[in-house]
Amino acid sequence: MIEKRHTVCRICHAACDLVVSVENGKPVAIHGNKDNPAYHGYSCIKGRAAGALLEAPSRLLHSMQRQPDGSHRKIPSGRAISQVAAQLRQIIDRHGPRSVALFTGTYCTINPLFETFAKAFLRAIDSPMLFDNLTIDQPGKSTAPGLIGTWLAGTPSMDEWDALLLVGANPIVSMNGGLGVNPARRLKQMQARGMKLVVVDPRRTECAARADIHLQPRPGEDAAIIAGLIRQILVDAMVDQDFVDAETTGIEELAAAVMPFTPAMVAQRAGIEADALVKAARVLGKARCGATSFGTGANMSGDPSTVEYLGRVLASLRGWWRRPGDQLANPGVFLQPLPPIAATPGPMAVEGVGARMEARGVTGSLAGNPVSALPDEILTTGPGKIRALIVAGGNPVLAWPDQAKTVQALADLDLLVCIDPFMSATSEMADYVLASRLGLECETNSAANEKWGLFNPGWGYEQPYGQSNPPVVAPPEDSDLREDWEFFYDLAQAMGLPLELHSIALVDPQEAAANAIPLDMTRKPSTSEAWASAFTGSPVPYEDMRRHPGPRLVDRAPVTVQPKPEGWTGRLELAAPLIMERLSRLGNPPPLADGAFPFRLICRRLQDVVNSCGHDNPIQLRKWTYNPAFMHPSDLEALGLSAGDTVTIRSAHGAITGIVEVDAGLRAGCVSMPHSWGRHPGREQRLDRDGANTGRLIAIDRDIDALTGQPLMSAIPVSVSPATAPAETPLKQYEAAK
Ligand code: SF4
Repeated sequence: MIEKRHTVCRICHAACDLVVSVENGKPVAIHGNKDNPAYHGYSCIKGRAAGALLEAPSRLLHSMQRQPDGSHRKIPSGRAISQVAAQLRQIIDRHGPRSVALFTGTYCTINPLFETFAKAFLRAIDSPMLFDNLTIDQPGKSTAPGLIGTWLAGTPSMDEWDALLLVGANPIVSMNGGLGVNPARRLKQMQARGMKLVVVDPRRTECAARADIHLQPRPGEDAAIIAGLIRQILVDAMVDQDFVDAETTGIEELAAAVMPFTPAMVAQRAGIEADALVKAARVLGKARCGATSFGTGANMSGDPSTVEYLGRVLASLRGWWRRPGDQLANPGVFLQPLPPIAATPGPMAVEGVGARMEARGVTGSLAGNPVSALPDEILTTGPGKIRALIVAGGNPVLAWPDQAKTVQALADLDLLVCIDPFMSATSEMADYVLASRLGLECETNSAANEKWGLFNPGWGYEQPYGQSNPPVVAPPEDSDLREDWEFFYDLAQAMGLPLELHSIALVDPQEAAANAIPLDMTRKPSTSEAWASAFTGSPVPYEDMRRHPGPRLVDRAPVTVQPKPEGWTGRLELAAPLIMERLSRLGNPPPLADGAFPFRLICRRLQDVVNSCGHDNPIQLRKWTYNPAFMHPSDLEALGLSAGDTVTIRSAHGAITGIVEVDAGLRAGCVSMPHSWGRHPGREQRLDRDGANTGRLIAIDRDIDALTGQPLMSAIPVSVSPATAPAETPLKQYEAAK
């Protein structure tokens, strides 16, 4: 008999409601739930292919231990935990807690229980060496609110927007913000009632194709474009003057800083039409209400903080924030929202707030400790050397910049532990791989998407929506798997350490720390109990959500936004000195000379595949089994190339071999290529099966953003030529190294 069960998809942060048809304990079909009040049936092929992931060739059913010859052999999870705990204890005793680092990858950061246990473990060993993927993909999302100040009441509902500015973002495919869940449906509705969409993107993406205005610039010019839009809004006197006078500071300094960004200057530098820039500014300037949203394209192209900051400045000039008396339709389900006050506490420190990187001589920022510095912290022979790394739900070998140095660093560790459901390119290097369950085998909920929605317009839920579900299927009978969070509890227990959780429900880190939740280390909680502890203080008790599985709109009254209390001094800072200084440098030099590297390689995603994993799931690979290097037909013709040809793509740092494909909607002069593909460099390179790793083109010792430590991850100057021999350096030494 086929039974239909719900689960919350854990493949990306969008947390879609999936209906799984289960027969004899196995998923036989997966689809979206058309009755879901938020998603309205939405799901993507990646989620619908989650059943096939259970059977993927790289899927692990047992924890693994590396052998002296480099192969891996099964090890009972309990024994692996004891051995890892003993080795960590030895490393800490000899070299101090700082010698142990934790990297939380995407599959940790989109699973709040995994993340909260991972961080609790790092606190328990007293190491400050926490790194996550934010400093390589979207650091501006953290630094920009710190620079301008967080508007506590947030952005008005999408139903009220008259305009949306999307920069380097394609939420129809990536779900990365700006159009909520079920993005294509939502955009259609918004445009049907008259909302105008302005897209800045070198690609004619799915969103750009639907835009009222598409500015298709030279990659890496987003900051200049937003500065130009702001200048035009100021020149046209399209500022919400009452709001600016009452709630902001720095308008004069801002105006002076953006004045050089005339339409002609921006047009010349970004390679767009000056008239189109002015038109876009007037669309945004006339919109009574709207939002700006920035994706990985904008965040990975050299100056994430400036573009994200200027987006918030533009929104503030137009007064696109909730005001006293506005309704907050979602007062929170799993998470406490920020106080519903129409005000900002003002800017906060963004620099020097993380750990000091001894080898690099820099300090982490509000975006976290810089991942780009981690290889040097491992390879250093000086004080503070990192000797053990725990990778939680990530794949550094494919995802970190400078793959060769990453692999060299991982090979230099005394201990590398991966918590992963797959034998990934990084797991292949690990001393221990602690095999975790997949989403369908876990109790899941929608808190991840709710969390993102607290800080970013067009993310999260606009209604009091929540979902919690028990596991859909049991792990295979002959397996030895644990839920990912359990490994941190088990390690702490084996090391005799107490664990204190910081509640997921409390988004203010200070409040969460002040109300830390001590765990009973004599009895491991069940997953339901662990979630309940981790949601301490949530608006709706977790037990209540668990008792009513499946998607639901919780009966919670909307909250009315309050005016700021008497004597409140915080104001939005429109002229953060750090950004004004960057604008002054941006305004001076002419555009980069193209020289030996005439193309710009930009990052992207493919609709069917997650960039750094699932590359052996046949359903996800139905269209592409590798990551093509998309180019404009005119560029291919000029180089004498056709679709399917192999090419050498070379940067100042390295070279890769790619397979070119036609994209007539791409700006000429660009190479658009999904990042985080390829495989471990010591393995046989199978270009048409695994693709190429663009991380090999990225340097981590130059072109680094001084604030966040992010390298130039996109808009990378490259050359393209027909391949005469494989471009990849023979990296056999890495095979020998580990
Ligand atoms: S959009 Fe993300 S959460 Fe939704 S089905 Fe696809 S992978 Fe899963």
